[in-house]
Amino acid sequence: MSRYWSKVVQGLTPYVPGEQPKLANLVKLNTNECPYGPSRRVLEALRAEIGDTLRLYPDPASDRLRAAIAKHHGLVPEQVFVGNGSDEVLAHVFLGLLKHDRPVLFPDITYSFYPVYCGLYDIGFEPVPLNARFEIAVDDYLKPNGGVIFPNPNAPTGCLVPLAEIERLLRANQHSVVVIDEAYVDFGGESAVPLVARHPNLLVTHTLSKSRALAGLRVGYAVGHADLIEALTRVKDSFNSYPLDRFAQAGGTAAIEDDAYFRAMCGKVVATRSRLVADLQAVGFEVLPSAANFVFARVPGRDGAELAAKLRERSIIVRHFRKPQRIAEFLRITVGTDEQCAALADALREILRQPGQR
Ligand SMILES: *Cc1c(COP(=O)(O)O)cnc(C)c1O
Repeated sequence: MSRYWSKVVQGLTPYVPGEQPKLANLVKLNTNECPYGPSRRVLEALRAEIGDTLRLYPDPASDRLRAAIAKHHGLVPEQVFVGNGSDEVLAHVFLGLLKHDRPVLFPDITYSFYPVYCGLYDIGFEPVPLNARFEIAVDDYLKPNGGVIFPNPNAPTGCLVPLAEIERLLRANQHSVVVIDEAYVDFGGESAVPLVARHPNLLVTHTLSKSRALAGLRVGYAVGHADLIEALTRVKDSFNSYPLDRFAQAGGTAAIEDDAYFRAMCGKVVATRSRLVADLQAVGFEVLPSAANFVFARVPGRDGAELAAKLRERSIIVRHFRKPQRIAEFLRITVGTDEQCAALADALREILRQPGQR
């Protein structure tokens, strides 16, 4: 701890992202990236940005990108906010819409960046336990709060809350904002975006990192009532006027416009997921129902950390969460290509033939 650090920094518990190993030839199934490259139209748009105009600042409002997103969802640009990855969008959401006297509610097992933002911005929160089936039960959120946020499908479980349940929450919770983080919705969920028209307390966030294969470009967005978007814009313009560079704006716009490629890639991932689930079940895994581009699975009685370590010896990396104890047996496995998933299944078949350590 440096004596030059501010009190705020001394008290931070930063988020730890999944590892990005420098080694080649790894089967990398740990950070939910897309196993296929982005649309060719994205690559062309990026190439077209290379030139003298890079001396100029980008559009601070990302108007073209916001217009493309608005059109894609049948909204107007005033209902769209864009950021440097949805992580940045979420940071602004916590400060601009969720920091109130009452605590923010989110699941006890969920995206572990949420409590980190609460720490950064000094926001009180109350973790709400998942039910016995590892699902989010809307009834558990019907209590006084300063806001509600959860991913749908949830991470790292992959479980989905039906849209009718989300609408029930929106009706019962009109005094604060409900944020639905749809980072994984394109892999089998039903988006809450159509509910934006009738619910001024709804904010929905999306990312181009997963279903649009652009984790390296850093583009995310939020849609909601124009008043909610204005709060986010006020935070952004008090922090960084140009969070999206010229490449992110051009490439992001091309990605949103290439709907056919997007649908095809999501379809491939969903098809591979079915095969992966069957392969995992065949070697003794219990797999939670997943609507995402990953599965959350365990072999009852086997330590997840031990399985992850044995996979790593075979150059396959998956994600394991040590805490809470309730999920210590689970592995979160990204849906890769068919070949990558087959390699994983072969390795697990071999590992599970040997007795486990407890
Ligand atoms: C990956 C992820 C994000 C962040 O996505 P970026 O746009 O890459 O910052 C947000 N929420 C959840 C639940 C995620 O899994």
